[in-house]
Amino acid sequence: MRLWIRSPLACLADDAGGGIVVEDGRIVELVASGAQPAKPVDETFDAHRHVVLPGLVNAHHHMYQTLTRAHPQAINKELFPWLKTLYGYWSRLTPDAHCLATRLALTELLMSGCTTAFDHHYLFPRGCEEAIDIQVDEAKKLGLRMVVSRGSMDLSERDGGLPPDSVVQDRDAILADSERVIGRYHEKGEGAMIQIALAPCTPFTVTRELMAETATLARRHGCRLHTHIAETRDETQYCEERLHCRPVDYLEQTGWLGPDVWLAHGIHFNDDEIGRLGRHGLAVCHCPTSNMVLASGHCRTRDLEGAGVAVGLGVDGSASNDNSNLIESVRHALMINRLTYDATITHRDAFRWATEGSARCLGRDDIGRIAAGCQADLALFTLDELRFSGAGDPLAALVLCGAHRADRVMVKGRWLVTNGMPVGIDIERLRHEHGAAARRFVD
Ligand code: ZN
Repeated sequence: MRLWIRSPLACLADDAGGGIVVEDGRIVELVASGAQPAKPVDETFDAHRHVVLPGLVNAHHHMYQTLTRAHPQAINKELFPWLKTLYGYWSRLTPDAHCLATRLALTELLMSGCTTAFDHHYLFPRGCEEAIDIQVDEAKKLGLRMVVSRGSMDLSERDGGLPPDSVVQDRDAILADSERVIGRYHEKGEGAMIQIALAPCTPFTVTRELMAETATLARRHGCRLHTHIAETRDETQYCEERLHCRPVDYLEQTGWLGPDVWLAHGIHFNDDEIGRLGRHGLAVCHCPTSNMVLASGHCRTRDLEGAGVAVGLGVDGSASNDNSNLIESVRHALMINRLTYDATITHRDAFRWATEGSARCLGRDDIGRIAAGCQADLALFTLDELRFSGAGDPLAALVLCGAHRADRVMVKGRWLVTNGMPVGIDIERLRHEHGAAARRFVD
């Protein structure tokens, strides 16, 4: 099947004014304005109302947190008190609730134009030992591409960490389960639909030993490594007082300065640390919405990219966002970065973070771009709502006027969203079931 997505209103690719030809799950040709595809096509989709983007890639998230959005006990707090308030509620996670939370977050992401989702799942209370299996299953059912990280916490209050005993696990159990899920689910190579990463949570929830042993295990299996670092001043202070070093020193001491590592947030780095991250080829996932909600600070995106650090984008949350809308986070990225820098930060910078940058975080070069040979992952938006009326530049309008919902989304050549609705999902039923599950997470 050869499909021609013909003559889009605008497209985030050079020389694709005439559209894109898709075949066998890949982009096979970009058509210049006024031209015809080189070979005959089986089907044509008229895209004259559509702005076409590469499918957005989400590089940081915690889907189970959709169950504790706008939590009355946790709102209006910064990271450490926010976490301490929520850990107890999160320990109530059940397999059914986790399944609904994952389905809801994936659906929200998909409807906002996301084609590759990542989740940093680090919570395995009793009964939820198969949390990663649940997420893989949900992603397969929906048809999105997904990187699931086997996250972990092994440092509780008893040993000087932040979380209570109820949400941490034993190191051997963590490493054994990490190896199990890698062996079972991790796909390698171009076009992979499901991949596993390993992701100890933070310096204040994980032991040094677990950091180091996780890095060794990931490298033995060719998996990527992910963690939160330099998110808040509290964290830097914790590192200096308890670990006697700064966050990037801690990464170095535990074997984490390598090109197979991407970091969530990356806010409180000094110039020397940014240079070190660049020299070692790390990537950073910028999470503007969460950083604003928790008042964590400004990620130095331009300085990081200038030093050679790839910058991606993540919705984070969903209890520090409190949604999973990736195109909305593109807008937030533009805005906060204009405050950090100036108006030379453009919508194209924000799109680059949400596409190619996030793909680099996940170690992928087959997604995040509209180019011949790349995977056919596309997000198509219309400008048919009141908020866009009168807009001149269609690509800029998506960000500046505030696009929030894609009209069509394609993953690996399959339409998963049409007319703004996910194919085969009963949205009302999902909202009802998820809402009922979430009520068990308040007092
Ligand atoms: Zn996070």
